[in-house]
Amino acid sequence: MLLVPISLPIFTPVNATVDSNGNWDWAAFQHLLPRDVLAHIAIIMPTYLLDIPDKPGCGDDNIWKLIHKSRTLLRTKSFLWLVCKNRVLTNAERLRHHIANTTECACCGARVEDLDHLLRQCPFAREVWEPLIRLYKVGEFFETPTPVWIKWNLQNPSYFANVQADWDIKFGAILWNLWRFRNRRVFDPDDVQLESVESCSQRIVGVVCRAASQSSLGESSVIEQRARSIVWKPSAPDKVKLNIDGACRLSDGVASCGGVFRDSNGAWVAGFSKYVGRCSALEAEFWAVFEGLQCAWQLGHRRVLVESDCWA
Ligand SMILES: [Zn+2]
Repeated sequence: MLLVPISLPIFTPVNATVDSNGNWDWAAFQHLLPRDVLAHIAIIMPTYLLDIPDKPGCGDDNIWKLIHKSRTLLRTKSFLWLVCKNRVLTNAERLRHHIANTTECACCGARVEDLDHLLRQCPFAREVWEPLIRLYKVGEFFETPTPVWIKWNLQNPSYFANVQADWDIKFGAILWNLWRFRNRRVFDPDDVQLESVESCSQRIVGVVCRAASQSSLGESSVIEQRARSIVWKPSAPDKVKLNIDGACRLSDGVASCGGVFRDSNGAWVAGFSKYVGRCSALEAEFWAVFEGLQCAWQLGHRRVLVESDCWA
């Protein structure tokens, strides 16, 4: 066992290990931890940057365990966790971070688009939920506080849902699709939605159930492989296009990410690559998006089309 002298007080807040630029102050603690732990820390955004109060633990462990164990896609689990932590960038949150000039809902024009409005109270969301909820539970469904609402739906499908089979999967898929559809409406209003939130969510239920049954049969591929033709298309003249990718090495989880900027003629503008740390391929993809947008900002590009090959 290697013993090292501890130079930090036991109750040092995380903020004390972040420098004035919002980056980890590695010199303050890298000599105290093994390399693989440092690689895990490297993929975590320092608290200073995110403006999150420093507190021990990760809050309600039970809800996290419930989300983690739920039978749904990884992206949906991540989104449910963000919902429980109130970390979804609705217009109310975007205004608070000075990245929007209104709190209005882009779907219905309501004065404040917060999480509760986005996922339940917006007429667009109510229209999705109401046919799926027991008539005498509708009032309770729309009024229960959000973390408890998520907990009950994942834990006890018979409580709210008309059809209880696979409700845990469908519930998460609907939340995720409400957010996805909202983003398309806000950021790409010309894109016509051919599929409803309900049918899109039902399709996810089918994919997850099929994957689970294939997995239980021992088949190697759990997700249906679809043939895709990939053709790179340039962005509109007023935008640059950023193609990003993130990957991790299966043997030890070491991950990196990178991206390329091209203008509307397809000409090279800039590129970047970065060692991320130790994480999943999905987390590496997120880092690629983050680093790419930071680069775009520094280069003076304000209209950026980000493209990834990630299907998660
Ligand atoms: Zn609305």
